[in-house]
Amino acid sequence: MWGTIATWRMAHDGVIAAKDILAGNGDCKDAVETAIRKVEDYPYYKSVGFGGLPNERGIVELDAAFMDGDTFQIGAVAGITDIANPIAVARKLSLDTFNSFRVGQGATEYAVLEGFERKNMLTPRAKKIWEKRLAEIADKKLNPYDGHDTVCAVALDQKQSMAVGTSSSGLFMKKSGRVGDSPLSGSGFYADSAIGGAAATGLGEDLMKGCLSYEIVRLMGDGHTPQAACDRAVYGFDQQLRNRLGKAGAFSLIAMNNQGAWGVATNVEFTFSVATERQAPSIFMATPGPNQTTVIEPITQEWLDA
Ligand code: ASP
Repeated sequence: MWGTIATWRMAHDGVIAAKDILAGNGDCKDAVETAIRKVEDYPYYKSVGFGGLPNERGIVELDAAFMDGDTFQIGAVAGITDIANPIAVARKLSLDTFNSFRVGQGATEYAVLEGFERKNMLTPRAKKIWEKRLAEIADKKLNPYDGHDTVCAVALDQKQSMAVGTSSSGLFMKKSGRVGDSPLSGSGFYADSAIGGAAATGLGEDLMKGCLSYEIVRLMGDGHTPQAACDRAVYGFDQQLRNRLGKAGAFSLIAMNNQGAWGVATNVEFTFSVATERQAPSIFMATPGPNQTTVIEPITQEWLDA
């Protein structure tokens, strides 16, 4: 059995590329990196890689992480700048025993030294959106935090190995040096080939409070299906946040176990893409349902056209 699941409609082309690798008996780590690179390279996705929206100062600071579910090796970068594929840097760092999570200038220097492609990641389009937003904030005192979405991919290969990766430009208009959940193990992602993998998108400040990716893998390890694990972790924590803090940000989680069964849960409208040995690559829409369940429906052609 093989399979892959990834966050947001933007990941669909990446899922198709990952599917080709997995169906051809390729490695789950290559599938994850390939899927995420596709999103990083596409200039019109405003929340990941090239074309991602910048921080308050107009600088595109990127976060990414990679985890090998066989060995538990993790690599991550936060606030990296001017590097084309943060996911590839994170994957390389996962092979290191020490210094495997690098931030800011240190992350960028590492990537340059290792020969990763340099690129000005701020596109004219993203710069225009930033300038417009600066003006709006000055005029109307708007909440600056807006326009985010992380690409996350979980993959299972035919050898029953699993891997997970994330890549994000974080929150639009974030303060310089702000880091969300995406590069943080347990919060933004987790994978254990003996159980399954999970990953998150949404308000990092809240996701980090619940370590939801680890929690979902733990629940799957206790025998829950991926869907039951996602429902329990996501709606349970959403409720806890509302009870204790009085509010919960938007968040959505995806999971797959090592049999290729998958699940998602979300407290907002959320699209994702999935492909397995039994299921052709498809985009779905998830919404919160009654009694801590998730409603999952195939995306309609009307939705895609719009
Ligand atoms: N989780 C990301 C962050 O907080 C943003 C997102 O996925 O929407 O940086």
